[in-house]
Amino acid sequence: MNELLKEVLKYVPEKAEISESGFEGANIILYTKNKDFFLDSGDVVKTIVDAVKKRIELRPDKSLLMEEEKAEKEIRKLIPEEAGLANVIFDIPRSKVILEASKPGLAIGKSGELLKEIKRKTLWIPIVRRTPPIKSLITEKIRSVLYENNDFRKKFLNKVGERIYGGWTNEKKDIWIRVTFLGAGRQVGRSCLLLQTPESRVLLDCGIDVAAQDPEDSYPMLDAPEFDISKLDAVIVTHPHVDHSAFVPYLYKMGFEGPVYFTEPGRDVASLMALDYISVSQKENRKVIFSSTDIKEMVKHSITLEYDEVTDITPDIRITFYDAGHTLGSAMVHLNIGNGLHNLVYTGDMNYETSNLLSSAITRFPRLETLIMEATYGGSNDNYPDRREAEELLVKTIKTTIGRGGKVLMPVLGTGRAQEIMVILDKMIRNGELEKIPVYIQGIVWDITAIHTAYPDFFNSNVRKMVFHKDQNPFLNEVFKRVGSRQEMNEVLEAGPCVILATSGMMVGGASVEYFKELADNPKNSLIFSSYLGRNSLGRKINDGEREFNLDGKQISMKMEVAAIRGFTGHSTRERLISFVRHLNQKPKRIILLHGDNSNCLDLASTLHKMFRIETNAPKNLEAIRIK
Ligand code: ZN
Repeated sequence: MNELLKEVLKYVPEKAEISESGFEGANIILYTKNKDFFLDSGDVVKTIVDAVKKRIELRPDKSLLMEEEKAEKEIRKLIPEEAGLANVIFDIPRSKVILEASKPGLAIGKSGELLKEIKRKTLWIPIVRRTPPIKSLITEKIRSVLYENNDFRKKFLNKVGERIYGGWTNEKKDIWIRVTFLGAGRQVGRSCLLLQTPESRVLLDCGIDVAAQDPEDSYPMLDAPEFDISKLDAVIVTHPHVDHSAFVPYLYKMGFEGPVYFTEPGRDVASLMALDYISVSQKENRKVIFSSTDIKEMVKHSITLEYDEVTDITPDIRITFYDAGHTLGSAMVHLNIGNGLHNLVYTGDMNYETSNLLSSAITRFPRLETLIMEATYGGSNDNYPDRREAEELLVKTIKTTIGRGGKVLMPVLGTGRAQEIMVILDKMIRNGELEKIPVYIQGIVWDITAIHTAYPDFFNSNVRKMVFHKDQNPFLNEVFKRVGSRQEMNEVLEAGPCVILATSGMMVGGASVEYFKELADNPKNSLIFSSYLGRNSLGRKINDGEREFNLDGKQISMKMEVAAIRGFTGHSTRERLISFVRHLNQKPKRIILLHGDNSNCLDLASTLHKMFRIETNAPKNLEAIRIK
């Protein structure tokens, strides 16, 4: 038996009748056959937690559980109708019952009293999950994959724990730490870092560069000599944009069996983006590198963490996610390595500014020696108008267009900016700045928005207040309408003035191009760009002034108005990147810049070095840095 479990069991009194002990990731799980001990274990659990400094959960042995049908009746009797209790799902291997409710707060009761009552009466451990107000097929599918595979999950999570606590010791040992850049070195796209210590090998992000000219340059450089998939311990995904997450299913296709860490919304959106990546690859006759089965494997091997939750992931690495303010559930990762001997923060993509939907990136960390930071807009020429100005320009353009009886087309990315714009439109319609006009949301954007409604706890405090206290969920505004089929799209084109949100943001394929073909020749209409426009993309050409196009044999002489609104970015501007470093609660010893083009990474590295007298680096792909 594992040394840590042996240690834990030493503290448990005999009357506890422990029938089984094991791990669930980094948590220790004990099953008891003694009903009274389960309902009231006194200080026993607390004493053990204090001694071993690990999370411990006490669960009832199967023999104590009330029969499922009877338990469900009891539960339905106890929970008030207003809670909107839908499914009741029994997770037998873990002695838990999952209650899916539209108003979780009402199902939990004041200070959790209803849950305590359910536990006392049925002995099942109740967990409440939110049913999103907009139906999200992907969230439903992911939850059912996890429920259906609960036997597999139990074994898998125990194996993860055994790996983490194999050779468990509280002693400090000498360590070295090395980071190899397998992508995102002086480039935006295919983020992927390999972190190695004497005990661990961990990947930070694993994305695909969809804009790469040569398909071979799309993927992280996993053929680097230091990478060996059979020795990989874990993958950590900061957020679900394709350039940070889309290559993860491929790791499972190649036989990876370890865990991938996400936030919950991160996992759901990443799965949807990976599925979308498959269908876009098929449509564009590109090589399809993984299947939906591999995405399912990723979900089966996922472990989700909340912000600020400290978790061991290997014998010498402990991680914590902090809000990055970039997309729903986006995270910066703090890694405590070698029992506190070195502390590293990898920002992923982050926005050091409160947006309409999300909070600002965090600057307080328990300790920090090395900072690995994005530099997307780190160049000295990258100055953006402020958010307020951008919003004003947006309303002005929409108002003028609607006023002359036209339609507004906004090409957007599926996740991030689209939802930010929806929140702005909702706000403006609510306070009367904008009249009530239909806003049509294209399929994938709608599906990602639905996932947003499942996780309102990740919104900033202002939007949370609207959702929980004022019953004004911005995404439920009746002006938002889903558009799925070609038929529905034709109806939108036939109808009157409106706003249309459709992918892709740069107009490289997707519904935004289809709409454009139909709307381009009417001077009453407007096209508003809010995303980054890649070289050679149709969006960039239009923005640069080209007006004559031949798209799939259709000659287009463009007359619609064009506006490019910068300032809605989910990234920090150069000023804010500098301000982020200035506001860190402790000064790092070294800053490594990546996720920016060559000049932006070098420019920011030299600026930060001069300003703060800190060692800075801007590594290229395949370079490795020993940071300790
Ligand atoms: Zn991103």
